[in-house]
Amino acid sequence: TLCDLNGELLPLSQAKVSVMDRGFIFGDGVYEAIPVYGRRLFRFDEHLARLHRNLDKLRFPDLPGLASRDDWLTRLRRVVGGQAADDQMLYLQVTRGVAMRDHVPPVDLVPTVFIMSNPMKPVPPEVRHQGVACVTARDFRWERGDIKSTSLLGNVMARQLAADQGAAEAILFRDGPQGGPWLTEGSSSNVWIVHEGALLGPPMNEHVLEGIRVGLLRELCEEEGIAFNLRPISEADVLAADEVILSSAGREVLPVTRLDGDPVGHGALRGKPGPVYGRLYEAYQRAKRE
Ligand code: PMP
Repeated sequence: TLCDLNGELLPLSQAKVSVMDRGFIFGDGVYEAIPVYGRRLFRFDEHLARLHRNLDKLRFPDLPGLASRDDWLTRLRRVVGGQAADDQMLYLQVTRGVAMRDHVPPVDLVPTVFIMSNPMKPVPPEVRHQGVACVTARDFRWERGDIKSTSLLGNVMARQLAADQGAAEAILFRDGPQGGPWLTEGSSSNVWIVHEGALLGPPMNEHVLEGIRVGLLRELCEEEGIAFNLRPISEADVLAADEVILSSAGREVLPVTRLDGDPVGHGALRGKPGPVYGRLYEAYQRAKRE
């Protein structure tokens, strides 16, 4: 597997970064995971816009050789070209660069840019068919979940907690000024509920990473005639939902059919993937091959 480190194409096993890189020392970096279908980057412009928003929030300097969209595409496609699979997951991360350890970031640093791509690992059909089990957990992460940071300790701990219970994801809740607990997101996904036929997600604020699938699902709902709304969602709303759905680059959309050990939903569909999920899944499959 070939990767790109600071513009140099080399085998992944030979890519080396200094131990003084602020990504290693402080987790001072941001990343993107971009799905590639049929060798085409899916929703690339949205991913690049989010990366730039994140770099700006952290006041990173300009990246050498990556001034334009075309610069990025050339570099990313070169890595995609080094893989045999047509469907891949492209990963890129930018850390602030190499410096003596000091919390205050020196202004003259050259960021480290790393790009790799791996064959896509699609969710197995039987898992998709059954839906996944999730657990609820307190969202004890920091208050800047809007930044797609490589500092993922809170997310890793939440996911570990889920994995310990044989669950696919931890669905996180946080108390707010208006009580709570309110739904934020999953450890590595956005979380949706279906209520009275509408797809509902929490408002996008500093506690939630605005997934690229948030905008995509808004569009797919419009196409499908499904009402779409972002508004505060309580834990009780989630536990009473007709459907619970995860979204992320890797999982696309995925139905949650058990929550804390209990089946999700009502009536004949209790514990089974629901109709809104089914329609969004089909719409997603069309969109990604367009
Ligand atoms: N929230 C978190 C914390 C995530 O890690 C991810 C996956 N990157 C998402 C949401 C979903 O974002 P996207 O749709 O861009 O994959």
